[in-house]
Amino acid sequence: MSAMKVVANLEICQGHARCAQICPELFTTDVEQGKVVLRQVQIPADLEEQARLAVANCPEGALRLARNSGSGS
Ligand code: SF4
Repeated sequence: MSAMKVVANLEICQGHARCAQICPELFTTDVEQGKVVLRQVQIPADLEEQARLAVANCPEGALRLARNSGSGS
């Protein structure tokens, strides 16, 4: 497991689904709401690079990575 998690700001997400195209393991979109849905918050280590790419390519800046605080919580 990576030490990172993903955080989405649904206020500014516009549902482009670019994140879901780049990293479908972590992101999908709610068709009705037109918003991103996180499949999992914790980022598996092998998906960290893809997650970074998805965050960097969100046109709205609605995604960010955050470091997990502590361990086991
Ligand atoms: S790319 Fe950004 S704005 Fe588009 S669905 Fe994903 S989080 Fe939302």
